[in-house]
Amino acid sequence: MGPWETNAYVLICPTTRQSILIDPAGEPETLLEMLADSEPIAILLTHSHFDHLGALDEMRATLKVPLMAHSAAVATRADRWLDHGHIVRVGEHGLKVYHTPGHIEDMICFAIVDDPRVIVGDAIFEGGPGHTSSSEAFRTTLQTLRNVILSWPDDTVCHPGHGPHFRLGDRRAAIEAFLSKDHGTFFGDATWDM
Ligand SMILES: [Zn+2]
Ligand SMILES: [Zn+2]
Repeated sequence: MGPWETNAYVLICPTTRQSILIDPAGEPETLLEMLADSEPIAILLTHSHFDHLGALDEMRATLKVPLMAHSAAVATRADRWLDHGHIVRVGEHGLKVYHTPGHIEDMICFAIVDDPRVIVGDAIFEGGPGHTSSSEAFRTTLQTLRNVILSWPDDTVCHPGHGPHFRLGDRRAAIEAFLSKDHGTFFGDATWDM
């Protein structure tokens, strides 16, 4: 969706047809098509960067459902604040919230309970972690990778905010090698092989 080719996600409970929209990045008509034949119950944000919010106001006005975001996302006027460990129910399914700061303080991931898929936003991509804007933020990213993301099983399938999805186990060795190096005061766009 939109000029930054951001991935938006719609998750629908096949039994109850309840659905949630994650990151309404743009193209409201496409989002409504994705939500067709379902009962939307919430809009969720992985984080508050503008490239994930392009159609937020329009989708909020159209769907009239609560907006949920991490409690550090103060600029987004959410109806419900999410924190690490919270579960968002969608019909017979649940999404577990993981706080994964670094790229931005309000970055969260949504893991589908009893399913290998995780919506990871810009926390991690196939080729590297999300962009950081200070060396402190980069150090936070390193902690998030070590303490949160690498704690997930190898079969985890990460669905990021940009680009293709990937299996965590296929990247684990590269991420561990990346974490084992001294990156000094680096921040910015990182790749696993640096
Ligand atoms: Zn972002
Ligand atoms: Zn993004």
